[in-house]
Amino acid sequence: MIILMHDNASGNDVEGVIIRAKELGLKPVPLYGEDQIMVVVTGEIDKIDPEHLESLPGVLQITRITSPFKFASRATKPEDTIVEVRGVKIGGAYVALIAGPCAVETEEQTMMTAEIVKKAGCRILRGGAFKPRTTPYSFQGLGEAGLKILSAAGDRYDMPVVTEVLDPRDVELVSQYTDIFQIGTRNMQNFRLLEEVGKMRKPVMLKRGLAGTIKEWLLAAEYILSNGNQDVILCERGIRTYEDMTRNTLDISAIPVVQELSHLPIIVDPSHATGKPNCIPSMVKAGIAAGANGIMVDVHPNPSAALCDGPQALLPDPFNKMMKEAQVIIKAIGKKVG
Ligand code: PEP
Ligand code: MN
Repeated sequence: MIILMHDNASGNDVEGVIIRAKELGLKPVPLYGEDQIMVVVTGEIDKIDPEHLESLPGVLQITRITSPFKFASRATKPEDTIVEVRGVKIGGAYVALIAGPCAVETEEQTMMTAEIVKKAGCRILRGGAFKPRTTPYSFQGLGEAGLKILSAAGDRYDMPVVTEVLDPRDVELVSQYTDIFQIGTRNMQNFRLLEEVGKMRKPVMLKRGLAGTIKEWLLAAEYILSNGNQDVILCERGIRTYEDMTRNTLDISAIPVVQELSHLPIIVDPSHATGKPNCIPSMVKAGIAAGANGIMVDVHPNPSAALCDGPQALLPDPFNKMMKEAQVIIKAIGKKVG
């Protein structure tokens, strides 16, 4: 349920609602909007009489949320969420341009890629230090050493960074170096991990599970949001279908579907979706034209030597060309680079 507070409700009033809801065995999360404060309450609300909360000081109105997405739903928050990280905006009219290596391999490779990415107009640097590999015999990432390199590259080129966290035990460590946590496709339903990043106060990019429905994806986002972290960015990265000419199938229609259901920003990752450098520019442009709030792509100065996902990495030249075209489309549809 949503407890909408009066315009003139005090901090003590909000605290009073939170305390009472907890006494009733419920889970309250306050949301501070631009001109209103609400407390979203989840738990066994059917068992309580709303009177217990309605009569508290500062409470204006109580409404039940019928959507399964209590926090992610547009019914709870009609306006688009704009996630802001170190001055970069993602959501609403702001389109995030994110690129970098699939994996941080060496300082030289990461710095070189960061420079290319920055010069092309990207504002966020990606790079994996903990890599979720299909086989345990592949390169698993540099771990903390990789986080250090990525964070140094972000500082040198003045870009916030996004990197994957694979394990709840690493959330604290990754948080020391990253600006945005990435939850990979294989972990979309790792609920303990979602809860842990939900307790952090840094944005989370939640990739769609490779066999996840949109409903399951938004419910996964609820695990983060209901733990208090409202800065969730969804990332459509392709789903597994019977088609094997591409690595996955990029579900462009997920963009308008998600945007109707939810206020959360949604970006697309055509690198992991198609696995094919020749397809990536078209899918980047299609994603932006379809209303995506951002794109994320893998870039490598020497893909044939890459330790992870080399065959899908864009070379600097096609990447630069693609970025120019992407910016034309962003402008043409009345949006801005975030
Ligand atoms: C990645 O972005 O590096 C990655 C592993 O992506 P996904 O989880 O979508 O496969
Ligand atoms: Mn990859």
